[in-house]
This record gives sequence, structure tokens and C-alpha cells, in this order.
Amino acid sequence: MTGEEPLMATEIDEAVLDGNAVAGLLMSVFGGEMTAVPGRCIHCHTVSMIGQLHAWTRAPGTVLRCPVCSQVVLRIVETPTAVLVDASGAAWLRMDRR
Ligand SMILES: [Zn+2]
Repeated sequence: MTGEEPLMATEIDEAVLDGNAVAGLLMSVFGGEMTAVPGRCIHCHTVSMIGQLHAWTRAPGTVLRCPVCSQVVLRIVETPTAVLVDASGAAWLRMDRR
């Protein structure tokens, strides 16, 4: 991020993305299809599919926010040697056995 873009333009561009936009990243991190996985927002207790979360992709890493309360549910940061997943905004994620 250069910091030169007007903040409003960034917000408008990113507001239309949802978790489906980062399906490929999620699959590589979790090893399977994740957009239909339900999870509970720890802030407002709403259960949403990961594909319904709002995706912010221009931050350092990817931020997925609750569509109801806009709080952060998941954060994923990729470095050259690792992938860091912060799921502290999710009370739980329910992944079916395969
Ligand atoms: Zn919420």
C-alpha cells in the first residue's frame, strides 16, 4: 500500500468483495473448500458462511469481516516462509469431515 490513494476509493472498491473472492487463498491455507464453512462471529454471535464474510484484500494480508457487525473474524498473512492465521474473531468454525 502506497498511502497515496484516497481512503474513500479504497473502501468503495473493497466493499463489494466477499469471502468467495479469496476462495483460492482459503483453500491453500486450510487444505479444502472453505467458502461454505459456517463460523460464528465472536463479537455479535452471527453465524455466517466464510463466503459471506466481507473481504479486505489490500491490507497487509487478507482480512475477513462479519457482514453484520463489520468486526474482524479472520486474518490471513502470508510471508515468504509461513502463513499466519488469526481466527480470534471467530468463536468457532465448523468443518465437515471429508
Ligand atoms: Zn459480527
